[in-house]
Amino acid sequence: MTEAADLLLTNGEIHSLTEPDTVTEAVAIRDGELVRLGDAYEIEFLEGVETTVIDCEGRTVLPGFIDAHTHLDHLGERLVHADLSAVESRAGALDALAAQADGPRTGGGAGSDGESGAEPDDWLLGFGYDESTWADATDYLTREDLDRVSETRPVAAFRVDVHTASLNSVALDRLRDDLPEGNVRFADGEPTGVVVEDAVGVLRDAVAAGPAAMREVIAAAAEYAVSRGVTGVHDMVQRSTAARAYRDLAAAGELPLRVRINYWSDYLDDLAAVGLPTNAGDEFVRVGAIKSFSDGSFGGETAKVFEPYVSVDEDAAAVDTDESEDGTSDNANRGQWVVDLDDLAAIVDRADAADRQLSIHAIGDEAIEETLSLLETTADPAGARHRIEHAELATDDQLARMADAGIVASMQPNFHRWADEGGLYEQRLGEERRTRTNRFRRVLEADVPLAFGSDCMPLDPLLGIHHAVTAPTESQRLSVTEAIRAYTHGGADAGFDEDRLGTVAVGKRADLVVLEDSPWEHPGRIDEIDVAMTIVDGELVFDGREEATGLQ
Ligand SMILES: [Zn+2]
Repeated sequence: MTEAADLLLTNGEIHSLTEPDTVTEAVAIRDGELVRLGDAYEIEFLEGVETTVIDCEGRTVLPGFIDAHTHLDHLGERLVHADLSAVESRAGALDALAAQADGPRTGGGAGSDGESGAEPDDWLLGFGYDESTWADATDYLTREDLDRVSETRPVAAFRVDVHTASLNSVALDRLRDDLPEGNVRFADGEPTGVVVEDAVGVLRDAVAAGPAAMREVIAAAAEYAVSRGVTGVHDMVQRSTAARAYRDLAAAGELPLRVRINYWSDYLDDLAAVGLPTNAGDEFVRVGAIKSFSDGSFGGETAKVFEPYVSVDEDAAAVDTDESEDGTSDNANRGQWVVDLDDLAAIVDRADAADRQLSIHAIGDEAIEETLSLLETTADPAGARHRIEHAELATDDQLARMADAGIVASMQPNFHRWADEGGLYEQRLGEERRTRTNRFRRVLEADVPLAFGSDCMPLDPLLGIHHAVTAPTESQRLSVTEAIRAYTHGGADAGFDEDRLGTVAVGKRADLVVLEDSPWEHPGRIDEIDVAMTIVDGELVFDGREEATGLQ
């Protein structure tokens, strides 16, 4: 007698996303594994008394999305603290911060965390403000502004560029001895409350979540991710508290998705010391790549490009011109190395000697060139599945070399929102280079493994797929199937998970997303499609059927 299934999905339009894509009506799941696919009559014999049956009512079922580039700690901070990214005025930002003061204190606080009674839980924090989008004012938030939020608790608001932050008087007092003087802005002999660069780093350390608070931050982000249909992430982890939070949540059975941790290169020795090689781990948490950087970003005019930027942006100039090595005039700015090339070469060498996968941020064409040259020197680039993060301005020649070396292009289709005519990329790079950013069609033609991710800007695979399918340069658009593959199989492959994740096939883990509408039927409106359900390892981790609405 055949053992009954734990879960049956029936009456669905289930896309395998294998090559070729096949469509079936029903799927049976047992012990977190897909055990049978077919028409309803072919699997109904697997229904036992304990089996849960979900009628999909004709909805579209896909392999769960794998977001190959996330920062869940940053996303979680915005969810747990004040999210200032969408406020429309200075008053709105102050209101959002003040609302935090009324709410329950986050962060666990003294007593709730065995290790530390000193979690910085009295801070009022806001993230992602951008005064340039406000109707009523264009100056940074000031000490005076934030003193109106609280005169007794420290208040800090981080600007969207993360190079700038604003503090109230209590916060300035508390950090006075630690803030590097040159990075604290003054007017008439008094600090304005605005701090920049290294002082922002000091502030970040001061407010960094302790273990209990970080667990709350990560849990909030993971919950959000599954609500967007994400069943696995490759998370770029800079803080050890985040890595620990994943393991703690998984051990408690409270991690709703799979996490591949790409560790900041600072942890190379620690990983070796505790004996954790690439891919070590269990079903839910695994060791991924070593993450490092070459250049910055187009927005900050810090991505390293062969030809100079065409515009001088005030924000960008404030951030980076003093460190630019390329010339004395702004017009000659070609970006900057965030990690010195010699240092990056040393990181690549050490990681390679330890048989580690590498994941290196490179956006501009010159940064891609140098990063590629380093990765090509490793022992087995294809076997290690090294990745270039973003690879936005990759040339034809570079793509051919990436294909030859088997290096993964880890790209973010949502970045196309800056590539419209007249948009940010055109202002920075000019018209010709704008159309050469994020050429997904070209990447696939060159046979470069393509993994999609969001960089949490925002975390939303359907939005990314929408941008890939409707890309500003028509010749670079992907088909719906190709775009979904990059957000499913592409991530699985980049994470050594192609045998267990990334397609709907018998023997794979049961990670699925159920959509309210079919992307193939609404290729121009994929960003408007609601997620109805998310299933991870055979468990229903998100059920949005009540709130979901179909496209009209
Ligand atoms: Zn990132």
